[in-house]
Amino acid sequence: MKNVLAVDIGGTHFRTGLFDEQGRRLLVLEGDTDRVAGRDWMLSQIASRCRDLMEQTDAPVKACGLSFGGPVDFPHQKVTSVHSSGWKGFELGKWTEKTLGVPCRLDNDANAGALGEYHFGAGRGSKLMVYITISTGIGSGIIYEGKLLRGKDYMAGEIGHIPISDSGSLCSCGGRGCLESFSSGAAMESRALEWSKRRPEHVERMLELSGGPEITAKGLMMAAAEGDQPANQILKETARWLAHGILMIIRILNPEVIVLGGGVGQSGELLLKTLRNALDEIASPTITYSTEIVSATLGTYSALYGAAAIGLGVE
Ligand SMILES: [Zn+2]
Repeated sequence: MKNVLAVDIGGTHFRTGLFDEQGRRLLVLEGDTDRVAGRDWMLSQIASRCRDLMEQTDAPVKACGLSFGGPVDFPHQKVTSVHSSGWKGFELGKWTEKTLGVPCRLDNDANAGALGEYHFGAGRGSKLMVYITISTGIGSGIIYEGKLLRGKDYMAGEIGHIPISDSGSLCSCGGRGCLESFSSGAAMESRALEWSKRRPEHVERMLELSGGPEITAKGLMMAAAEGDQPANQILKETARWLAHGILMIIRILNPEVIVLGGGVGQSGELLLKTLRNALDEIASPTITYSTEIVSATLGTYSALYGAAAIGLGVE
């Protein structure tokens, strides 16, 4: 019996875990990401927690899978993002391998989340699954017949950067009109900010539930679930744009299942219902489909499970 290590480095949290050969989670150590402390701090956290986990098992650790919350150059196993200082161009796969003394492989969190949900969550047993993570941004991973669909330049499934309009605000990718700038958590927050400027009396509940000086996507979703009208209006508008992106995916791939993850994506039935209604409104009455749209079942652990799948070599 051999175990694998899994590492998930996110913008707000990081997790390290020990999994057995069946992908069962044995132990997890997690913490908050300190962006200001930067790359070297994060690396020292990862190294010490992984060593702790390795000491807590008698079974040898055969490999380590890593998920990084930002763009990754997969063929070169490098981080390409400016997540926080020092990450750009960093050979995270090689570094982990050298530090822990076990083979390591790295992918971005959207692909890792897709692998996690496909092997251990809502996408189990499906032939064609699309995982969409909606939090501050929008990412996605496509799994066809058990394999990640990567594309020629390893950028297949960049659903967040599908241009759905020729206007709109500037996206993090530098383009304009991307789905991410219309339907992400950040897009919801900027709509709420517009409301608070024009109609401050209408955003009181959203502000209260956000627990701070600004409305968060989480607070907004909570207010919408309570029946708050302005929050529901923002949610509807967001879901309508998302429906346009999702309908494109359905038209191109006709997947069996679309799994929604990430802080906003897995917020539950209200988002799913609003999204399904928006899809019904824009869909063709003659080109029907049976693609299911569901929430991720691994919650905030989709990417960690995916990292375990990478470690197990089943990606
Ligand atoms: Zn973009």
